[in-house]
Amino acid sequence: MELPAIAGGKPVRNEKIFYGRQWVTEEDIKAVSDVLSGPYVTCGPKVTEGEQRLCEYTGAKHAVLVNSGTSALHCACLAAGIGEGDEVITTPLTFAASANCVLYCGGTPVFADVDPETYNIDPDSIRQKITSKTKAVIAVDFTGQVVKADEIRAICDEFGLVFIEDAAHSIGSRYKGKPVGSFADMTCFSFHPVKTVTSGEGGAILTNDDEYYKKLVLAHTHGITHDEEMMEDAPHEGGWYYEMISLGYNYRMTDFQAALLMSQMDKIDAFISRRKEIVSRYNEELKDLPGLILQKEIPESDTSRHLYIIRLDLSKLTCTRREFFDAMSAENIQCQIHYVPTYWFPYYRHLGYEKGLCPNAEEIYKGIMSIPLYPMMSDSDVTDVINALKKLTAYYQK
Ligand SMILES: *Cc1c(COP(=O)(O)O)cnc(C)c1O
Repeated sequence: MELPAIAGGKPVRNEKIFYGRQWVTEEDIKAVSDVLSGPYVTCGPKVTEGEQRLCEYTGAKHAVLVNSGTSALHCACLAAGIGEGDEVITTPLTFAASANCVLYCGGTPVFADVDPETYNIDPDSIRQKITSKTKAVIAVDFTGQVVKADEIRAICDEFGLVFIEDAAHSIGSRYKGKPVGSFADMTCFSFHPVKTVTSGEGGAILTNDDEYYKKLVLAHTHGITHDEEMMEDAPHEGGWYYEMISLGYNYRMTDFQAALLMSQMDKIDAFISRRKEIVSRYNEELKDLPGLILQKEIPESDTSRHLYIIRLDLSKLTCTRREFFDAMSAENIQCQIHYVPTYWFPYYRHLGYEKGLCPNAEEIYKGIMSIPLYPMMSDSDVTDVINALKKLTAYYQK
């Protein structure tokens, strides 16, 4: 048997590969520098063009570009009217921002458990967590796979809840043929560099609802309006006049970031099809490896995959997850873990959340690992990852 590098063998590759990375080209750089040498660095036409572009891509009626996915979630919670005493149901198997945005508004995140096979929030668990204080659901399309949107929509309609979709992983995915961004009450994207397309930092909220849209616009730019119809003290005094009518933030995206985003959107179809190619190779070559469990896909989701997660079946392996992770690093394949259940973090613990709240999420967390997935990976990079996994699962077989 071939020895893993961690046990003194030769690594599958000499150069380190990471779990994700952006693909920025000369065209992207030119798009940014054109804006930087023009009149508008921020608050110019590129942001508006970028918003139109996202509406075209998703079929949503409105889009608001903001400076991060986290700001997008915060604005969505503000537009949904989340405040003191309100509960919002979300998943613990996500980046902390999915729940933090509720805390920003003075609300209480309530964690529903995930499906043991898809790792997405389980609609039955959402139902169990609803109280008279519940105001919204923030459902995360984990790894890019769309949540059971019809079931969540039905629950939200039955109980009068706002359906917010954290689609940081899932731009370009579809649910029953409908693009992500077109069916939740509000959908939030992130354009952080590890995500499918990047603007450096950036995010967006999409909605079909005119009232949410007005609130989102106010929330992301100081609660200030130039629209006379929205002013309280009109008729106003002159062309310079604007009013601050709610408490908002400065969450604006710059024009050069919007230019980068649009240049990346030119390539999104190519990015996604390359991701899909890599995912099908992984699915094919990893499905029978003993000790590995693969994420289940629901047929309703046509998934633009942001993360590829393997789950170690530790009952069949002689190693711990940490040993396996370190052994992959020694092969020069740098994996990552997505995610530590949010309420396990000290900050949430100090707020009174306890271990055991969501047993499926906690059990899944113990075995998961994200392996490299990004469009710039070459076929031989993909082969290296597969070979490392074959070598390690064989070596650690019970
Ligand atoms: C990345 C991410 C966010 C936050 O996006 P930023 O742009 O980094 O602020 C929110 N939710 C999920 C699920 C994410 O992966």
